[in-house]
Amino acid sequence: MGFIVGIDGPAGSGKGTVTKKVANELGLINIDTGITYRCVALEVLNQNVSLEDTDKIIEIARNIKIDIDNTPNGDIVYLNGKDVTKDIRSKEVTKIVSPVSSIKEVRYSMVDMQRKLAEGKDIIMEGRDICTYVFPNADVKIYLDASIEERAKRRYKENQEKNIDMTYEEVYENIKKRDENDKAKEIGALKIASDSIVVDTTSLSIDEVVEKIINIIKQNLK
Ligand code: C5P
Repeated sequence: MGFIVGIDGPAGSGKGTVTKKVANELGLINIDTGITYRCVALEVLNQNVSLEDTDKIIEIARNIKIDIDNTPNGDIVYLNGKDVTKDIRSKEVTKIVSPVSSIKEVRYSMVDMQRKLAEGKDIIMEGRDICTYVFPNADVKIYLDASIEERAKRRYKENQEKNIDMTYEEVYENIKKRDENDKAKEIGALKIASDSIVVDTTSLSIDEVVEKIINIIKQNLK
């Protein structure tokens, strides 16, 4: 088994941006586990499956093929061979991804995939349940947090840069709902592992968070 850094935290805590930068600086492979759940949600929409049709959603998760190409400009995501990098960030996907990822069997399939993606590599993996469920024995465990207002502000700005059409109020409401739903999951709920180091990023710049995390990782490497 390689070296594993787990980073958990709610939407907008800075996980995505920070994890990529830390991965580049330390030469780790970066795995964004939210991508896997977003792909299942996108396929649910593509196939016009109702959120009530749990059996069909479970079948989609079992058969889905996801490839993630880690490039210096970000991840390129392929779903059943098609580039869906932008589609998985759409408002529609963001709306249903939390309920889709609450289905126990969907989580089993995705966690299986996430563990396989990590096999034998030195990785930094980000998500909601990495330090508690996917890799409870990770070498370094970090939980990133920030106030909900700050997280909504960040996500709104990021969406604007990516031409994703959501008002600030929509982003705020979505994050609030996802937080509630993510914390209430039967398996893989968003929570702080007892041995995770909590970093509050509310008043920190991205570079300050990156530096903090690199220091934490280096201390744990010794
Ligand atoms: O990280 P991101 O916002 O892209 O994740 C999208 C959704 O996928 C989250 O709101 C959460 O419901 C789900 N997720 C999860 N477990 C993870 C990563 C993401 O349940 N490890």
